[in-house]
Amino acid sequence: MPETFKAILVSRDAEKKQSVAVTDLTEADLMDGDVTIAVEATTVNYKDGLAITGKAPVIRRWPLIPGIDFAGTVVSSSHPDWRAGDKVILNGWGVGETHFGAYAGRARVKGDWLVPLPQGMSPHDAMAVGTAGYTAMLCVMALERHGILPDRGPVVVTGAAGGVGSVAVSILSSLGYHVIASTGRNAESPYLINLGAAEVISRDELAQPAKPLAKERWAGGVDAVGSHTLANVLSMTSYGGAVAACGLAGGMDLPTSVAPFILRGVSLLGIDSVMAPKAVRLEAWRRIGTDLDLQKLASLSTTIGFDGIIDAAHDIVGGKIRGRIVVDM
Ligand code: NDP
Repeated sequence: MPETFKAILVSRDAEKKQSVAVTDLTEADLMDGDVTIAVEATTVNYKDGLAITGKAPVIRRWPLIPGIDFAGTVVSSSHPDWRAGDKVILNGWGVGETHFGAYAGRARVKGDWLVPLPQGMSPHDAMAVGTAGYTAMLCVMALERHGILPDRGPVVVTGAAGGVGSVAVSILSSLGYHVIASTGRNAESPYLINLGAAEVISRDELAQPAKPLAKERWAGGVDAVGSHTLANVLSMTSYGGAVAACGLAGGMDLPTSVAPFILRGVSLLGIDSVMAPKAVRLEAWRRIGTDLDLQKLASLSTTIGFDGIIDAAHDIVGGKIRGRIVVDM
């Protein structure tokens, strides 16, 4: 008898009504790929919440195992870069959207999509970072490329108590930036200060329709929220500054004007983690290994088991999750 493993499977009926079930699968049920991995840790990202709740059309192949990232050990490989026993990380590439994802005991993917687990990091640590944390690192790298270094002035992080935000606050403060954390959860101020925020502001300050230009408050920012929040962040960015935009937790729209761009030379830096080239991924994970304090990482993550994934998916879409969730398989 082939060995079975548990998997979460999202299906759709003839009326396009979505349902979620836990099922037993074997390796023969997995999709094509040249590397099979025993999944040891995964996580619940905002996108996974959208996929499981069906709140946005993340899933584009039915039925599907969701889960956009995992860390684990190679079981078998016909890819030249990977051998059984190698420790690997997977983020993005459509996994958990069009290709069977992380919420199963085994995953089979293309070897080209994998990166090695950084030295000194466990699969659990890597998933405490997860796609949210790796995206936060991509945002920091984009700001640096644009010359927004700590001496340029404060940087704002929106959605700060969420996954991207918490890791961005930690990394930026470790690098010496004066971090202004924007949150809708005032009770999370001590948590954000503990992660390294120098100031905590209320999300409400950035929630109203933005003026074309407002008082200059920061040299740059990491925005996980979009909509009015991003418009306000742009209008408050000082001359020559830059904002890395990666998220839409507050909305997909961007009700802004060209004023920050043409009158203050502000730049809007778009960040995508899913199709980021391998060299960029390797650099982001290398930087995570050097610039993210593992103690802070532990303080911003909560561990659950496979059985807790579906509830956590609902909670993250409801804005109830603080920091990062790690799923130990
Ligand atoms: P989380 O849910 O962990 O964090 C989002 C945070 O945004 C919340 O914690 C909350 O922070 C804030 N927020 C939620 N709803 C609203 C609202 N209506 N208005 C204003 N603020 C709100 O999600 P992640 O950190 O995992 O992801 C953040 C965003 O980044 C998501 O949109 C996600 O899809 C996107 N993303 C994009 C990637 C890319 O490749 N571009 C990769 C990874 C994530 P607080 O309580 O502090 O206010």
